[in-house]
Amino acid sequence: MNRSPVAAHVRAIPRSGIRDFFEVVQTMHDVISLGIGEPDFVTPWHIREAAIYSLEKGRTGYTSNLGLPKLRTAIAGYVAQHFRVSYAAPTEVLVTVGVSEAIDLALRALLDPGDEVLYHEPCYVSYSPSIALAHGVPVPVPTRAEDGFALRAEALAARITPRSKVLMLNFPTNPTGGILPLGELEAIAALCRRHDLIVLTDEIYSELIYDGTPHHSIASLPGMRERTVLLHGFSKAFAMTGWRIGYACAPAELIEAMMKIHQYGILCASITSQEAATEALVRGTPGIEPMRRDYEARRNYVVKAFNDLGLPCLRPRGAFYVFPDIRPTGRTSQEFALGLLKEKKVAVVPGPAFGACGEGFVRACYATSLPQLKEAMRLIGEFCKELRVGS
Ligand code: PLP
Repeated sequence: MNRSPVAAHVRAIPRSGIRDFFEVVQTMHDVISLGIGEPDFVTPWHIREAAIYSLEKGRTGYTSNLGLPKLRTAIAGYVAQHFRVSYAAPTEVLVTVGVSEAIDLALRALLDPGDEVLYHEPCYVSYSPSIALAHGVPVPVPTRAEDGFALRAEALAARITPRSKVLMLNFPTNPTGGILPLGELEAIAALCRRHDLIVLTDEIYSELIYDGTPHHSIASLPGMRERTVLLHGFSKAFAMTGWRIGYACAPAELIEAMMKIHQYGILCASITSQEAATEALVRGTPGIEPMRRDYEARRNYVVKAFNDLGLPCLRPRGAFYVFPDIRPTGRTSQEFALGLLKEKKVAVVPGPAFGACGEGFVRACYATSLPQLKEAMRLIGEFCKELRVGS
Protein backbone atom coordinates (compact mmCIF):
# COMPACT_ATOMS: atom_id res chain seq x y z
CA MET A 1 0.00 0.00 0.00
CA ASN A 2 1.51 3.38 -1.03
CA ARG A 3 -0.51 5.51 1.30
CA SER A 4 -1.70 5.08 4.88
CA PRO A 5 -5.07 3.31 5.02
CA VAL A 6 -5.88 5.37 8.11
CA ALA A 7 -7.55 8.79 7.80
CA ALA A 8 -5.24 11.71 8.60
CA HIS A 9 -7.42 13.08 11.41
CA VAL A 10 -7.45 9.66 13.09
CA ARG A 11 -3.68 9.25 12.66
CA ALA A 12 -3.21 12.62 14.34
CA ILE A 13 -4.96 11.51 17.52
CA PRO A 14 -2.62 10.29 20.26
CA ARG A 15 -3.42 7.12 22.20
CA SER A 16 -4.85 7.73 25.66
CA GLY A 17 -2.06 8.37 28.19
CA ILE A 18 -4.06 6.34 30.71
CA ARG A 19 -4.20 3.27 28.48
CA ASP A 20 -0.46 3.41 27.74
CA PHE A 21 0.26 3.54 31.43
CA PHE A 22 -2.08 0.69 32.25
CA GLU A 23 -0.55 -1.55 29.67
CA VAL A 24 2.58 -1.40 31.85
CA VAL A 25 0.45 -2.04 34.97
CA GLN A 26 -1.08 -5.13 33.39
CA THR A 27 2.33 -6.77 32.99
CA MET A 28 2.89 -6.53 36.77
CA HIS A 29 1.50 -8.46 39.76
CA ASP A 30 0.11 -7.19 43.09
CA VAL A 31 -0.22 -3.57 42.00
CA ILE A 32 -2.44 -1.32 44.15
CA SER A 33 -4.23 0.72 41.53
CA LEU A 34 -5.33 4.27 42.20
CA GLY A 35 -5.41 4.57 38.44
CA ILE A 36 -8.70 3.73 36.77
CA GLY A 37 -11.64 6.00 37.57
CA GLU A 38 -14.13 3.32 38.46
CA PRO A 39 -16.22 2.77 41.63
CA ASP A 40 -15.05 -0.20 43.71
CA PHE A 41 -18.69 -0.90 44.64
CA VAL A 42 -20.64 -3.54 42.75
CA THR A 43 -23.96 -2.37 41.26
CA PRO A 44 -26.60 -2.69 44.05
CA TRP A 45 -28.33 -6.07 44.03
CA HIS A 46 -31.88 -4.89 43.28
CA ILE A 47 -30.58 -3.25 40.08
CA ARG A 48 -28.81 -6.44 38.99
CA GLU A 49 -31.95 -8.39 39.88
CA ALA A 50 -34.10 -6.16 37.66
CA ALA A 51 -31.80 -6.99 34.74
CA ILE A 52 -31.93 -10.72 35.49
CA TYR A 53 -35.73 -10.58 35.77
CA SER A 54 -36.05 -8.80 32.42
CA LEU A 55 -33.93 -11.54 30.81
CA GLU A 56 -36.09 -14.21 32.47
CA LYS A 57 -39.14 -12.58 30.94
CA GLY A 58 -37.48 -12.88 27.54
CA ARG A 59 -37.02 -9.17 26.97
CA THR A 60 -34.13 -9.52 24.56
CA GLY A 61 -35.01 -7.32 21.58
CA TYR A 62 -34.24 -3.83 20.31
CA THR A 63 -35.85 -0.84 21.99
CA SER A 64 -36.95 2.44 20.43
CA ASN A 65 -33.90 4.33 19.10
CA LEU A 66 -34.45 6.96 21.76
CA GLY A 67 -34.57 4.35 24.54
CA LEU A 68 -37.34 2.67 26.57
CA PRO A 69 -40.18 5.16 27.19
CA LYS A 70 -40.33 4.23 30.90
CA LEU A 71 -36.60 4.92 31.25
CA ARG A 72 -36.87 8.28 29.46
CA THR A 73 -39.77 9.22 31.76
CA ALA A 74 -37.68 8.23 34.80
CA ILE A 75 -34.73 10.26 33.47
CA ALA A 76 -36.88 13.37 32.90
CA GLY A 77 -38.23 13.04 36.46
CA TYR A 78 -34.78 12.58 37.96
CA VAL A 79 -33.24 15.46 36.00
CA ALA A 80 -36.09 17.79 37.00
CA GLN A 81 -35.49 16.98 40.64
CA HIS A 82 -31.67 16.73 40.69
CA PHE A 83 -30.84 19.63 38.34
CA ARG A 84 -34.06 21.67 38.49
CA VAL A 85 -34.48 21.62 34.68
CA SER A 86 -37.48 20.08 32.90
CA TYR A 87 -37.32 18.10 29.68
CA ALA A 88 -40.12 16.39 27.76
CA ALA A 89 -39.45 12.64 27.92
CA PRO A 90 -40.82 11.84 24.41
CA THR A 91 -38.71 14.39 22.49
CA GLU A 92 -35.94 15.83 24.68
CA VAL A 93 -34.28 12.75 26.20
CA LEU A 94 -32.01 10.26 24.37
CA VAL A 95 -30.61 7.11 26.02
CA THR A 96 -27.02 6.42 24.94
CA VAL A 97 -24.22 3.92 25.44
CA GLY A 98 -22.65 5.74 28.37
CA VAL A 99 -21.88 9.43 28.56
CA SER A 100 -19.04 8.53 26.18
CA GLU A 101 -21.44 7.99 23.28
CA ALA A 102 -23.47 11.06 24.25
CA ILE A 103 -20.33 13.26 24.04
CA ASP A 104 -19.51 11.88 20.60
CA LEU A 105 -23.09 12.29 19.31
CA ALA A 106 -23.42 15.84 20.59
CA LEU A 107 -20.12 16.94 19.03
CA ARG A 108 -20.89 15.27 15.71
CA ALA A 109 -24.38 16.78 15.67
CA LEU A 110 -23.14 20.29 16.46
CA LEU A 111 -19.85 20.78 14.64
CA ASP A 112 -19.03 21.82 11.11
CA PRO A 113 -15.39 21.29 10.12
CA GLY A 114 -13.20 23.97 11.70
CA ASP A 115 -15.65 24.97 14.46
CA GLU A 116 -13.80 25.62 17.70
CA VAL A 117 -14.69 23.85 20.94
CA LEU A 118 -13.56 25.34 24.23
CA TYR A 119 -13.00 23.15 27.28
CA HIS A 120 -11.16 23.44 30.56
CA GLU A 121 -7.92 21.55 31.15
CA PRO A 122 -6.88 19.30 32.86
CA CYS A 123 -9.93 17.35 31.75
CA TYR A 124 -11.27 13.91 30.91
CA VAL A 125 -9.02 12.22 28.35
CA SER A 126 -11.69 11.84 25.66
CA TYR A 127 -12.60 15.50 25.17
CA SER A 128 -9.86 16.65 22.82
CA PRO A 129 -9.85 13.47 20.64
CA SER A 130 -13.67 13.45 20.47
CA ILE A 131 -13.63 17.04 19.20
CA ALA A 132 -10.98 16.20 16.59
CA LEU A 133 -12.90 13.08 15.47
CA ALA A 134 -15.93 15.32 14.90
CA HIS A 135 -13.70 17.59 12.72
CA GLY A 136 -13.73 20.37 15.31
CA VAL A 137 -10.78 22.32 16.65
CA PRO A 138 -9.98 21.69 20.35
CA VAL A 139 -9.29 24.91 22.27
CA PRO A 140 -8.15 24.09 25.83
CA VAL A 141 -8.48 26.72 28.55
CA PRO A 142 -5.98 25.97 31.34
CA THR A 143 -7.19 25.96 34.95
CA ARG A 144 -4.92 26.37 37.98
CA ALA A 145 -4.52 24.77 41.38
CA GLU A 146 -4.65 28.29 42.91
CA ASP A 147 -8.26 28.57 41.64
CA GLY A 148 -9.22 25.08 42.83
CA PHE A 149 -9.06 24.07 39.14
CA ALA A 150 -12.26 26.04 38.50
CA LEU A 151 -12.69 27.53 35.03
CA ARG A 152 -12.32 31.32 35.24
CA ALA A 153 -14.73 33.28 33.02
CA GLU A 154 -11.90 35.70 32.28
CA ALA A 155 -9.61 32.93 30.98
CA LEU A 156 -12.48 31.57 28.87
CA ALA A 157 -13.29 35.02 27.41
CA ALA A 158 -9.67 35.39 26.27
CA ARG A 159 -9.97 32.30 24.05
CA ILE A 160 -13.32 32.99 22.41
CA THR A 161 -13.05 33.73 18.66
CA PRO A 162 -15.62 34.13 15.86
CA ARG A 163 -15.16 30.35 15.18
CA SER A 164 -16.04 29.34 18.77
CA LYS A 165 -19.22 27.26 18.76
CA VAL A 166 -19.27 24.94 21.76
CA LEU A 167 -18.10 25.02 25.38
CA MET A 168 -17.63 21.71 27.22
CA LEU A 169 -17.95 21.74 31.01
CA ASN A 170 -17.36 18.98 33.54
CA PHE A 171 -17.78 19.97 37.19
CA PRO A 172 -16.98 18.17 39.45
CA THR A 173 -14.02 17.50 37.19
CA ASN A 174 -12.13 14.39 36.29
CA PRO A 175 -9.13 14.48 37.12
CA THR A 176 -9.03 17.26 39.74
CA GLY A 177 -12.34 16.90 41.63
CA GLY A 178 -12.69 20.69 41.23
CA ILE A 179 -16.11 22.33 41.27
CA LEU A 180 -17.35 25.63 39.84
CA PRO A 181 -18.63 28.27 42.28
CA LEU A 182 -22.06 29.63 41.32
CA GLY A 183 -20.74 33.17 40.67
CA GLU A 184 -18.20 31.87 38.14
CA LEU A 185 -20.84 29.61 36.53
CA GLU A 186 -23.12 32.65 36.10
CA ALA A 187 -20.30 34.67 34.54
CA ILE A 188 -19.56 31.77 32.15
CA ALA A 189 -23.28 31.48 31.26
CA ALA A 190 -23.34 35.21 30.45
CA LEU A 191 -20.37 34.73 28.09
CA CYS A 192 -22.15 31.83 26.38
CA ARG A 193 -25.26 33.94 25.82
CA ARG A 194 -23.22 36.91 24.58
CA HIS A 195 -21.14 34.83 22.14
CA ASP A 196 -23.94 32.44 21.16
CA LEU A 197 -22.07 29.34 22.43
CA ILE A 198 -23.71 25.96 22.88
CA VAL A 199 -22.75 24.19 26.10
CA LEU A 200 -22.16 20.46 26.60
CA THR A 201 -22.29 19.92 30.32
CA ASP A 202 -20.98 16.52 31.45
CA GLU A 203 -22.65 16.00 34.83
CA ILE A 204 -21.36 12.48 35.47
CA TYR A 205 -20.01 13.32 38.95
CA SER A 206 -22.88 15.61 40.00
CA GLU A 207 -24.08 13.26 42.77
CA LEU A 208 -20.59 12.88 44.26
CA ILE A 209 -20.21 16.23 46.01
CA TYR A 210 -18.85 16.79 49.51
CA ASP A 211 -18.89 19.18 52.46
CA GLY A 212 -22.58 19.94 51.82
CA THR A 213 -21.64 22.00 48.75
CA PRO A 214 -24.65 22.75 46.50
CA HIS A 215 -24.39 21.73 42.84
CA HIS A 216 -25.76 23.84 39.98
CA SER A 217 -25.91 22.73 36.38
CA ILE A 218 -25.43 25.51 33.84
CA ALA A 219 -28.62 24.22 32.16
CA SER A 220 -30.61 25.55 35.14
CA LEU A 221 -29.42 29.16 34.77
CA PRO A 222 -31.60 31.76 33.01
CA GLY A 223 -31.49 31.56 29.22
CA MET A 224 -29.26 28.45 29.23
CA ARG A 225 -31.61 25.48 28.81
CA GLU A 226 -32.16 26.28 25.14
CA ARG A 227 -28.42 26.34 24.41
CA THR A 228 -27.30 23.41 26.58
CA VAL A 229 -26.96 19.66 26.06
CA LEU A 230 -26.99 18.06 29.50
CA LEU A 231 -25.10 14.75 29.59
CA HIS A 232 -25.37 12.32 32.44
CA GLY A 233 -25.27 8.61 33.15
CA PHE A 234 -25.26 5.77 35.61
CA SER A 235 -21.60 4.73 35.67
CA LYS A 236 -20.39 6.62 38.73
CA ALA A 237 -23.31 7.41 41.07
CA PHE A 238 -24.90 3.95 40.70
CA ALA A 239 -21.62 2.01 40.28
CA MET A 240 -22.75 0.86 36.81
CA THR A 241 -19.70 1.40 34.57
CA GLY A 242 -20.03 -1.96 32.79
CA TRP A 243 -23.70 -1.52 31.88
CA ARG A 244 -22.83 1.31 29.49
CA ILE A 245 -25.85 3.54 29.94
CA GLY A 246 -25.93 7.33 29.71
CA TYR A 247 -28.26 9.99 28.38
CA ALA A 248 -28.54 13.40 26.81
CA CYS A 249 -31.23 15.97 27.56
CA ALA A 250 -31.60 18.95 25.24
CA PRO A 251 -34.12 20.88 23.14
CA ALA A 252 -35.93 18.57 20.66
CA GLU A 253 -34.04 19.88 17.60
CA LEU A 254 -30.69 18.84 19.08
CA ILE A 255 -31.94 15.48 20.39
CA GLU A 256 -33.39 14.74 16.94
CA ALA A 257 -30.00 15.49 15.33
CA MET A 258 -28.15 13.31 17.85
CA MET A 259 -30.72 10.54 17.45
CA LYS A 260 -30.11 10.42 13.68
CA ILE A 261 -26.43 9.61 14.26
CA HIS A 262 -27.23 7.21 17.11
CA GLN A 263 -29.84 5.25 15.10
CA TYR A 264 -27.40 4.50 12.26
CA GLY A 265 -24.34 3.89 14.40
CA ILE A 266 -25.72 2.15 17.49
CA LEU A 267 -29.46 1.62 16.92
CA CYS A 268 -30.22 1.50 20.66
CA ALA A 269 -28.58 0.85 24.01
CA SER A 270 -28.88 -2.70 25.38
CA ILE A 271 -32.41 -3.45 26.61
CA THR A 272 -31.10 -5.33 29.67
CA SER A 273 -29.02 -2.34 30.72
CA GLN A 274 -31.95 0.00 30.11
CA GLU A 275 -34.13 -2.15 32.39
CA ALA A 276 -31.43 -1.99 35.07
CA ALA A 277 -31.09 1.79 34.65
CA THR A 278 -34.87 2.21 35.04
CA GLU A 279 -34.73 0.31 38.32
CA ALA A 280 -31.79 2.48 39.43
CA LEU A 281 -33.81 5.67 38.97
CA VAL A 282 -37.14 4.39 40.20
CA ARG A 283 -35.93 2.64 43.38
CA GLY A 284 -32.16 3.08 43.54
CA THR A 285 -31.51 6.73 44.34
CA PRO A 286 -31.41 6.22 48.16
CA GLY A 287 -28.46 3.85 47.50
CA ILE A 288 -26.31 6.74 46.28
CA GLU A 289 -25.89 8.46 49.64
CA PRO A 290 -24.06 5.65 51.52
CA MET A 291 -21.56 5.37 48.65
CA ARG A 292 -21.12 9.16 48.56
CA ARG A 293 -20.46 9.24 52.32
CA ASP A 294 -17.88 6.50 51.94
CA TYR A 295 -16.08 8.41 49.18
CA GLU A 296 -16.12 11.55 51.34
CA ALA A 297 -14.42 9.70 54.23
CA ARG A 298 -11.79 8.33 51.84
CA ARG A 299 -11.22 11.78 50.36
CA ASN A 300 -10.64 13.20 53.83
CA TYR A 301 -8.06 10.51 54.52
CA VAL A 302 -6.21 10.76 51.19
CA VAL A 303 -6.01 14.57 51.11
CA LYS A 304 -4.48 14.68 54.59
CA ALA A 305 -2.10 11.82 53.78
CA PHE A 306 -0.70 13.55 50.67
CA ASN A 307 -0.30 16.88 52.47
CA ASP A 308 1.42 15.15 55.41
CA LEU A 309 3.91 13.69 52.94
CA GLY A 310 4.79 17.18 51.68
CA LEU A 311 2.89 16.81 48.40
CA PRO A 312 0.42 19.74 48.35
CA CYS A 313 -3.06 18.44 47.63
CA LEU A 314 -6.24 20.50 47.36
CA ARG A 315 -9.33 19.25 49.13
CA PRO A 316 -11.57 18.55 46.13
CA ARG A 317 -15.28 19.04 46.65
CA GLY A 318 -16.40 16.37 44.21
CA ALA A 319 -15.83 13.24 42.09
CA PHE A 320 -13.43 10.60 43.47
CA TYR A 321 -10.03 11.90 42.46
CA VAL A 322 -7.26 13.90 44.08
CA PHE A 323 -4.65 15.73 42.03
CA PRO A 324 -1.61 16.22 44.27
CA ASP A 325 1.32 18.42 43.29
CA ILE A 326 4.41 16.21 43.00
CA ARG A 327 6.85 19.02 42.11
CA PRO A 328 8.48 18.91 45.58
CA THR A 329 9.95 15.53 44.51
CA GLY A 330 11.88 17.22 41.69
CA ARG A 331 10.50 14.60 39.31
CA THR A 332 8.25 15.02 36.29
CA SER A 333 4.76 13.51 36.52
CA GLN A 334 5.82 10.63 34.28
CA GLU A 335 9.02 9.94 36.26
CA PHE A 336 7.10 10.02 39.54
CA ALA A 337 4.30 7.71 38.33
CA LEU A 338 6.64 5.23 36.63
CA GLY A 339 9.06 5.21 39.60
CA LEU A 340 6.21 4.66 42.06
CA LEU A 341 4.85 1.85 39.94
CA LYS A 342 8.17 0.07 39.46
CA GLU A 343 9.53 0.52 42.98
CA LYS A 344 6.37 0.35 45.14
CA LYS A 345 3.77 -1.19 42.86
CA VAL A 346 1.30 1.66 43.30
CA ALA A 347 -0.37 3.02 40.15
CA VAL A 348 -1.35 6.68 39.76
CA VAL A 349 -1.83 8.51 36.45
CA PRO A 350 0.63 11.22 35.30
CA GLY A 351 -1.15 14.62 35.15
CA PRO A 352 -0.28 15.39 31.51
CA ALA A 353 -2.54 12.49 30.43
CA PHE A 354 -5.31 15.07 31.09
CA GLY A 355 -3.69 17.97 29.22
CA ALA A 356 -0.35 19.77 29.17
CA CYS A 357 -1.17 21.92 32.22
CA GLY A 358 -1.37 18.70 34.29
CA GLU A 359 2.45 18.54 34.34
CA GLY A 360 3.73 18.52 37.93
CA PHE A 361 0.65 16.63 39.19
CA VAL A 362 -0.63 13.06 39.29
CA ARG A 363 -4.19 11.77 39.53
CA ALA A 364 -5.04 9.31 42.29
CA CYS A 365 -8.51 7.76 42.31
CA TYR A 366 -9.74 7.02 45.82
CA ALA A 367 -12.62 4.76 44.74
CA THR A 368 -10.88 1.88 46.45
CA SER A 369 -11.22 0.48 49.99
CA LEU A 370 -9.79 2.42 52.93
CA PRO A 371 -7.35 -0.39 53.91
CA GLN A 372 -6.01 -0.43 50.32
CA LEU A 373 -5.74 3.36 50.34
CA LYS A 374 -3.85 3.25 53.63
CA GLU A 375 -1.39 0.72 52.24
CA ALA A 376 -0.99 2.76 49.04
CA MET A 377 -0.28 5.92 51.05
CA ARG A 378 2.24 4.05 53.22
CA LEU A 379 4.08 2.95 50.08
CA ILE A 380 3.90 6.44 48.55
CA GLY A 381 5.37 7.70 51.83
CA GLU A 382 8.30 5.26 51.52
CA PHE A 383 8.81 6.32 47.91
CA CYS A 384 8.85 10.02 48.85
CA LYS A 385 11.29 9.33 51.69
CA GLU A 386 13.63 7.66 49.27
CA LEU A 387 13.32 10.74 47.05
CA ARG A 388 14.01 12.81 50.23
CA VAL A 389 10.83 14.90 50.02
CA GLY A 390 10.08 17.09 53.02
CA SER A 391 13.57 16.71 54.57
N1 PLP B 1 -17.12 11.87 31.42
C1 PLP B 1 -16.20 11.91 32.40
C2 PLP B 1 -15.80 13.22 32.97
C3 PLP B 1 -15.65 10.72 32.91
O1 PLP B 1 -14.75 10.78 33.90
C4 PLP B 1 -16.03 9.49 32.33
C5 PLP B 1 -15.43 8.23 32.79
O2 PLP B 1 -14.49 8.17 33.55
C6 PLP B 1 -16.97 9.50 31.31
C7 PLP B 1 -17.50 10.70 30.87
C8 PLP B 1 -17.43 8.23 30.64
O3 PLP B 1 -18.60 7.82 31.24
P1 PLP B 1 -19.47 6.58 30.74
O4 PLP B 1 -19.02 5.37 31.52
O5 PLP B 1 -20.88 6.97 31.08
O6 PLP B 1 -19.25 6.43 29.29
